[in-house]
Amino acid sequence: MELTHVALVIADIGGYTRFIKLHKTALLHAQEIISQLIEAVIDRAAVPLTLNKLEGDAALLFAVTGDADATAAGDIARQVTAFFSAFHAKARELSGSRASCPCDACQHILDLKLKAVLHHGVVAIKKIRQFEELTGEDVILVHRLLKNGVSKPEYILMTSSFHRLAGDLPGYQSERSEETYDALGRIETVVLSPALAAAGQLPVPDCA
Ligand SMILES: [Zn+2]
Repeated sequence: MELTHVALVIADIGGYTRFIKLHKTALLHAQEIISQLIEAVIDRAAVPLTLNKLEGDAALLFAVTGDADATAAGDIARQVTAFFSAFHAKARELSGSRASCPCDACQHILDLKLKAVLHHGVVAIKKIRQFEELTGEDVILVHRLLKNGVSKPEYILMTSSFHRLAGDLPGYQSERSEETYDALGRIETVVLSPALAAAGQLPVPDCA
């Protein structure tokens, strides 16, 4: 087992916790909807990004990179923006095909939101049969960052170590921020949100 520089990506669908309070049919439909949305998102991942693990309403992906691979980081950031368009296209499709089901899960598909956390760090990769388990503080960090102080419904959160390599994204507004976690301390972040609220929507005026 050795230490490797990696880019870590978590794509996470929000709204699931409200869904899983539902019963029977709605619960089953919520799980089908989330699975299909996650699938649509990870279908967009391409080399060097690899799916590592599905975690309920989220997916963990990673790419082995150099310690300062700006090209790979920029490529990964662009792939993540495509996750959002895939997510919204699939959500619209499912909302249409499930319109006749009265259950809460099928009636609220368009309320679901996607967020992504991107980090560049060091992990140990443990191979067990065909599975690769990623371990280390940076794996913990990228999961912790899912709980954060960002109030936007949809965004890409980059740690400053990732943003230093990838830079800003065209069509996205970026805002420097920080998060603090027990044991991990203060983490500098950059939050990127689409200048266009979502595909097919009008730009949201800036309330500066
Ligand atoms: Zn339903």
